[in-house]
Amino acid sequence: MIKKDYYQVLGLDRSATDGEIKKAYRQMALKFHPDRNPGDKQAEERFKEASEAYEVLSDREKREIYDQFGHSGLQGTGFAGFQGVDDIFETFSDIFEDFFGGGRRGGRRAQRGRDLRYDLQIEFAEAFFGAEKQIQVTKNGICENCGGRGAKDSTAIRTCPRCHGRGQISHSQGFFTISTTCPQCRGNGTFIAEPCSECQGAGFVKKTKKLSVKIPAGVDSGVRLMLQNEGEAGERGASKGDLFVFISVKNHDFFSRDGDNLLCEIPISIVQASLGCHITVPGLKGDHEIEIPRGIQSGETIVLKGEGFPHLRSRRPGDLIIRVKVQTPTQLTKEQEDLLRKFAETSGEGMGEAKKKKKKGFFG
Ligand SMILES: [Zn+2]
Ligand SMILES: [Zn+2]
Repeated sequence: MIKKDYYQVLGLDRSATDGEIKKAYRQMALKFHPDRNPGDKQAEERFKEASEAYEVLSDREKREIYDQFGHSGLQGTGFAGFQGVDDIFETFSDIFEDFFGGGRRGGRRAQRGRDLRYDLQIEFAEAFFGAEKQIQVTKNGICENCGGRGAKDSTAIRTCPRCHGRGQISHSQGFFTISTTCPQCRGNGTFIAEPCSECQGAGFVKKTKKLSVKIPAGVDSGVRLMLQNEGEAGERGASKGDLFVFISVKNHDFFSRDGDNLLCEIPISIVQASLGCHITVPGLKGDHEIEIPRGIQSGETIVLKGEGFPHLRSRRPGDLIIRVKVQTPTQLTKEQEDLLRKFAETSGEGMGEAKKKKKKGFFG
């Protein structure tokens, strides 16, 4: 299934401000909210779709990646972020709170897992063609023994006796009642009577995971790709963080890059420059036969349209720009020298010839 454009989903254009994004999502969420459309699968899909778009566009980092590379920049297993609508309410609880004015159950929300960074260096050609790279990440993963809950079993999680599960305790001070976070359970409302033996109650353990990263063709150094939910596990089953892969591209011996343009320099002789010629220029995709026009000057360029880096957003690739460097011969035979003198005579050049370069140093 082809994923819809996130801006389209929310009916926005690309320059939308944070405020406009929030407003658009709010409208969609109200319209397709499952409570208002019970049993309507289509509405539920639209609701999820809008939430997914909002999750990306409301996050500066994710939006930047999406703007640059579209869906291929935001990798992950489909949209594993939201399993169902409950997950959406949990993630955007702050928003739904001010949408509907409803209070949440008290207590502290379990903390989402940390985002991780991975620095990945790729070859120049991999940036040009795209690639699939295998990486290994060591991170806090959910403890399988306890399913991330940190307790030995379900009976080992008990309601906090001090706050009776509310996560808050109230004190009376004169006419006022003041609520504070329960110090015994730190707002969780529950406590673990018998911790899991594998993770000692943390809910997660260090794990090394192999991941495959799809590098879109056209990436450049400084680009970040996001692997959704591949960051660290959250507290007690809260949502996972994301993994950001920072790309750096190695230099190439022959090619360099300027934006989406591929640059190279080829040496030609003064004869080739004067009379024109056909030469073969190696390209990343294969050789190019090019014609050097008569009378080309050193430093002039020949542009092969569309032979540069692909550009994911505009679909218009960059160009291959070949800079010509005319090489002056440094070693001439007697015959060649005579021919050059003759050439100068015929074009009426005064000679004022320099002495032949001695092999001695400058002061020699
Ligand atoms: Zn408590
Ligand atoms: Zn455990």
